Amino acid sequence: MAIASTNPATGETIREFDALSDSEVEEKLATAARVAREYRHTGFDERAAGLRRAADILDADTDTLAATMTAEMGKTIAAAKAEIGKCAKGLRYYADAAPAMLADDIADADAVNASRALHRFQPLGVILAVMPWNFPLWQVIRFAGPGLMAGNVGLLKHASNVPQTALYLEELFRRAGLPEGVFQTLLISSGQIEDILKDPRVAAATLTGSEGAGRAVGETAGAQLKKVVLELGGSDPFVVLPSADLPAAAKTATTARCQNNGQSCIAAKRFIVHTDVYDEFAELFVAEMAAQKVGDPTADDTDIGPLATEQGRTDVTDLVDDAVAKGAKVLTGGTVPDGPGWFYPPTVISEITTEMDIYGEEVFGPVASLYRATDIDDALRIANDTDFGLGSNVWTTDDAEIERCIDELEAGQVFVNGMTTSYPEISFGGIKNSGHGRELATFGIREFCNVKTVWVG
Ligand code: NAP
Repeated sequence: MAIASTNPATGETIREFDALSDSEVEEKLATAARVAREYRHTGFDERAAGLRRAADILDADTDTLAATMTAEMGKTIAAAKAEIGKCAKGLRYYADAAPAMLADDIADADAVNASRALHRFQPLGVILAVMPWNFPLWQVIRFAGPGLMAGNVGLLKHASNVPQTALYLEELFRRAGLPEGVFQTLLISSGQIEDILKDPRVAAATLTGSEGAGRAVGETAGAQLKKVVLELGGSDPFVVLPSADLPAAAKTATTARCQNNGQSCIAAKRFIVHTDVYDEFAELFVAEMAAQKVGDPTADDTDIGPLATEQGRTDVTDLVDDAVAKGAKVLTGGTVPDGPGWFYPPTVISEITTEMDIYGEEVFGPVASLYRATDIDDALRIANDTDFGLGSNVWTTDDAEIERCIDELEAGQVFVNGMTTSYPEISFGGIKNSGHGRELATFGIREFCNVKTVWVG
């Protein structure tokens, strides 16, 4: 894939970039390794001050940066601005919270016949971050904020279609006054990742992206015995039970499915509705989906912009067409509009069977699959009948049902009467083919730490 910014609303390529040569990559690796040896000795105050300055720069750059993000990957301008705000907030959060998260964890010295026993959290060193285009700023910041606070050094391989945002990120930390080289962007193809990850100067990797990319990077990391965090795809269930507030559920379901033009790993993708409220929910949901305004992502009142790539739209179209050919019913949408840009309308389909590709695959576009469940057992069965296990959502006001769903939904996250969302304060990650390891909160910041056990006699 060429490293280029191509506007998904028009299909026009705006800028192209050459991949770094082997010698340029070597130079960056050497810098990262050198800086890592020094940066680990900086204090929390110095690191936090850098993160806070980066947050202020993001606030000041919001309009221009949002325009770049929208031009590169098609998210609406409102969504781009919201993402930038979230990143600024996230950086300030880690500046404030990381020292307590990484403070020595004191153990019971008497129990281990010591005068002192504790766990100390130390940086691993150079971390390679392989990132996707869909939240081109947030996916990186949610690694970089905690990573830099922990004393690690970052090397970013961003998705090939968001090079300008990738370069901005390196520049952001430089302008914020963090040590030169503490966070570097590598404009490289995915084929160049393997050698970099094999390099002994790279301690570990984090990848957010598709299952295929996760398997490739996980395999290399495994062979090198290097720690890896994998945040992969999802096909999150959104379970609606009879006591749910249906209008609220239908409204949130629409946001949960259509956020980021339908291209979010934690978008609700499968809507599993108890038969007693199925017809009423379906009517409300279809009306909400059909009312979404699709169009120019730079317009303030647009709800859904184009899909990020032509291939992405083809993948969505193929899944819907396959389902329809095998008997699925389209309740709204389902047809590619005429004209330039990679737009796809908000779509709801029902009567889905296990033979259809859409049953098992992630749909990365604004397409909702609607399932009728006979009871809560059936709803949980359908919800868990997937290789993914990222987020999950359930709507009910019944306490016993809430507890049962919390216990039995096979996912890294469960959101009750709301939609799955990432917050710096709570951890984020999946099970099954959605990956392993956690980002955010205390669990996330400690992933790339050496949890050093200290025993003093
Ligand atoms: P992708 O194609 O897997 O790309 C993600 C990153 O991996 C890019 O930097 C890409 O580089 C690189 N890559 C691709 N193939 C690779 C390979 N074989 N070896 C090493 N690196 C490789 O995913 P995407 O299309 O950008 O993003 C969509 C996917 O990401 C969806 O499945 C979505 O659910 C998932 N996602 C997960 C989370 C989460 O937190 N769990 C968050 C967001 C997105 P190139 O661009 O150069 O190919």
